Amino acid sequence: MKRIIILGSTGSIGRKTIEVIRHLGTYKVVGLAAYANYRRLAAQAVEFRPKIVTMISQKAYDEFKRTNGRARLLAGEEGIAEMVDALDADTIICAMASSIGTRGVIRAIEKRMQVCLATKEILVNFGDLIMRKAKQRHVRIIPIDSEHSAVYQCLENRHRKDLQSIILTASGGPFLNRSLKNVKKADVLNHPVWKMGRKITVDSATMMNKGLEVIEAHHLFGLPARMIKIVVHPEAICHSLVQFTDGTLLAQLSTPDMRLPIQYALTAPVRIVSPVPQLDITKVKRLTFAPPDYKKFACLELAYRALDTGKTMPAVLNTANEEAVHLFLNDQIGFGAIPRIIEKVMTRHKPVDGDLECYLEATRWAREQTRSLTC
Ligand code: MG
Repeated sequence: MKRIIILGSTGSIGRKTIEVIRHLGTYKVVGLAAYANYRRLAAQAVEFRPKIVTMISQKAYDEFKRTNGRARLLAGEEGIAEMVDALDADTIICAMASSIGTRGVIRAIEKRMQVCLATKEILVNFGDLIMRKAKQRHVRIIPIDSEHSAVYQCLENRHRKDLQSIILTASGGPFLNRSLKNVKKADVLNHPVWKMGRKITVDSATMMNKGLEVIEAHHLFGLPARMIKIVVHPEAICHSLVQFTDGTLLAQLSTPDMRLPIQYALTAPVRIVSPVPQLDITKVKRLTFAPPDYKKFACLELAYRALDTGKTMPAVLNTANEEAVHLFLNDQIGFGAIPRIIEKVMTRHKPVDGDLECYLEATRWAREQTRSLTC
């Protein structure tokens, strides 16, 4: 049995990961971490009997402690790193909805665990540091994000010199064919294809999710911005493509279900039968591909700009976005204000390079700036 730690086990990707682990039957869960859902974490702890569990929210930690006595319990962001330090594991899956698990992922790389990453924010904020460390320790970062998993699969056993570009597909979100005027929160939260957490659903509507994925791809595959393209593909059947210098395109197609990229991250390069219904290509009536509307979805251009600038700018972009989305979900700003606020914060930022603390400082600064702009 391989030993695994799951960060973010109660969220949307975390729950799907648990389903995959049950299906594979070859993993022993030794550590679990969740933000605040202590009831679900407690149920998972009863099922898998991990050695350590971590609750990030103090309130949830107190509740968990009061009602569940068995596993060793840690608290807070530091608890994640402490848990990774204390456990012997082969693999870690990070599926937290923010970069809160970063120190845990860094410790996992230092301990040479295989890292399966769903949390793109970690690479957007700290990609240079993470990838440098992974290279030093000969650790592969395997993507779970469906587009990056598709690219990873298309690039297996290929020569980098033959690569022309990678093409990330985007569903286009709920506003692909609708105006961005008078947008209501309910419209934003109603994604046409994927049922996901609220934060990523808003990112999908602004298309910032795709912008963040461009930066994520830059780090994962070591490619410059000009080699990373986006196409709008509303059917969400083709999960991304790669184009080679001779013009050949390879694509990965499957039923849109996150259990597939999660399972592949755990079994690659081996393929195991999955409970996900197989795609019947004869039932797919139409596959369409179109260029994105960069004018309408201003977040895309902001993300490319942040990637071009580099240093702490992508971390500032991502943090300003996190904060703006939070304000939008709390009805404090309108939908159209999200890119405007991010752009303002980016304009005020003087990018620097440095260690983790320097990048964390940039995120703190961006959070304060975003809040002060909306007071
Ligand atoms: Mg994705």
